[in-house]
Amino acid sequence: MPPSKRPSSTAAASEDKLSRTRTEAVHEALRLAIIEQSLQPGARLPEDAIGESFGASRTIAREALGRLAVEGLVELKPNRGAFVANPSLEEGREIFLVRNGLERTVVQSLSGKLSATNEASLRSHVGKEEEASGRDAVRSMRLAGEFHLQLAAMTGNQLLERYVREVVSRCSLILATYGRPHSSDCAVTEHAEIVDALAKGDFETAADVMQRHLEAVADRALPPIKAGVDIRDVLARYASATTGPALENENASTSSPDVKVGDRRRPRKQE
Ligand SMILES: [Zn+2]
Repeated sequence: MPPSKRPSSTAAASEDKLSRTRTEAVHEALRLAIIEQSLQPGARLPEDAIGESFGASRTIAREALGRLAVEGLVELKPNRGAFVANPSLEEGREIFLVRNGLERTVVQSLSGKLSATNEASLRSHVGKEEEASGRDAVRSMRLAGEFHLQLAAMTGNQLLERYVREVVSRCSLILATYGRPHSSDCAVTEHAEIVDALAKGDFETAADVMQRHLEAVADRALPPIKAGVDIRDVLARYASATTGPALENENASTSSPDVKVGDRRRPRKQE
């Protein structure tokens, strides 16, 4: 490459880097707004409004939305734009199941191998969680998620860290969709128990507490299976009351335009 070309290619490279950094900043800000429930599931995310808010181009806004779509936090609809994802209950259960497996691997990797610095950092983090608990719901929720991300980062396994980050974000979205508004999603005492067990090298206890802990989070986030509304169960009562015995057979109910077979699988999915 001739020397005269160097300055412009360096400039292009640094511009490219700057644009990547800006995309990361917009991506991170939107991620937080979604998991902290400031942007509700199903909310529209217009590229121009996002660009204006962050002083960024629409291209950068589009790239950030694309990344969030890969992480499952945003849904891109052809010709309609981007929306905060609106996960179904079934997807919610699948995500919690995967999270359980990943975080078991995290405690397995860390048990008995926690450095003094890492242990001190985790204990200080739990201290901050205790301070925020009951006082500042948004901060509590953010700190709770960060505890799990810190643990994953301490394994030094970047792939594990990335997957944990993704499922933790998705769990926050599930909580936003189906849980109580701004309910803190983690019990701080259980975080402290996990750190104690890891420091002692007691994998069984650490894994056991982590599993119970995540099951409790899932219970708060997801309604019990029986409470999931099956539209056919609800409408069957109305159908028999309004149309009489003629429609009380299976063919009639499945051919009704308002009651589709597919609704059974994703009863609460909304546009
Ligand atoms: Zn937790």
